[in-house]
Amino acid sequence: APVITVPVPLGDRAYDIFVGRGLLAGAGPRIAALGARAAIIITDENVGPLYADALAEALQRQGLRATTFAVTPGEATKSYASLEKVCDAVLAAKIERGDLVVALGGGVVGDLAGFAAAVVRRGVRFVQVPTTLLAQVDSSVGGKTGINSRYGKNLVGAFHQPSLVLADTALLDTLPIREMRAGYAEVVKYGLIDDARFFDWCEANWRGVFSGGLERDEAVAQSCRAKAAVVVRDEREDGDRALLNLGHTFGHALERITRYDSARLVHGEGVAIGLCLAFRFSVSLGLCPAADAERVEAHLAATGLPTRLSHVPGGCGSVDDLLDAMAQDKKVKGGALTFILARGIGQSFIAPGIAVEKVRSFLAS
Ligand code: ADP
Ligand code: ZN
Repeated sequence: APVITVPVPLGDRAYDIFVGRGLLAGAGPRIAALGARAAIIITDENVGPLYADALAEALQRQGLRATTFAVTPGEATKSYASLEKVCDAVLAAKIERGDLVVALGGGVVGDLAGFAAAVVRRGVRFVQVPTTLLAQVDSSVGGKTGINSRYGKNLVGAFHQPSLVLADTALLDTLPIREMRAGYAEVVKYGLIDDARFFDWCEANWRGVFSGGLERDEAVAQSCRAKAAVVVRDEREDGDRALLNLGHTFGHALERITRYDSARLVHGEGVAIGLCLAFRFSVSLGLCPAADAERVEAHLAATGLPTRLSHVPGGCGSVDDLLDAMAQDKKVKGGALTFILARGIGQSFIAPGIAVEKVRSFLAS
């Protein structure tokens, strides 16, 4: 099967993302090329039984010493307690500076294992083998790692770029459909940010992305190219990288309101509703044609994603509840919010200083 290579040219920390169906079986030589003697695979208890042995064997065939450590699945695992367990597992496996931590899993495993790799021995190299669509198109690229604290999500972490990302699109064949859809919201986001042609492509090809045709590889690769371009311009989110937050100011608020209960809402579902709200808000501010907002909503709805506040199971409270939840977001400063708005599909921009009152009247409408 064809393999697509997406370079991430970050100077002395440059790395490649490989995208393709069936990459896992041939992962050994690519990982061994990094020159390590040993690797520890960090995974979770859903993904481990499916794929960890195949990966460990691929590494062992190249003469690497490979062990596996599995954590409990779910967002609650991005904790200080699991960080301690993972760091101890890395040390117990005698992983040295030149060796590797290999994250095999979704965003939870990638963020946690990446952070452990960033801090153990003041930094060991790590490889991402993302197993969710969300992780393949978003969290495995860009070097953000971390855990949650009682004060909020992702508040303790480090920038630590991977040495390699292997996105085997066949691994998504076992992913629950709901997780697949949630990741797809982030794919659509890249079109909405600055690539109208890619949004057109998504409208025409989304079925192939879901069914696992070559379109899936193309969607993952194109998303990685888009994310890599933003990360290379603004690695530490001092500027442009904020565009990646399109749909996320509303989305994060909905996640907070539903108490991060994945039975009610997962991240990508919050993003899908958030993307629709960001476009409708842009329309209400007179910035964006209504037809573009309608196209966004129609496309996300066609894939089965939620698109409206009324789609949140258990409801999302009053307008004030939503505003309160948004005010807790780190992007809020002095009565005004920074939003990512759009002049149309593929024409998003950072809009600082949006008065809370404008958001209130939009949400109340
Ligand atoms: P995200 O990437 O959305 O942050 P998580 O790391 O929380 O997601 O993974 C979402 C759920 O899907 C978890 O329960 C995880 O164990 C499971 N999972 C991840 N990858 C796969 C896969 N390829 N096949 C089946 N289940 C998977
Ligand atoms: Zn996101």
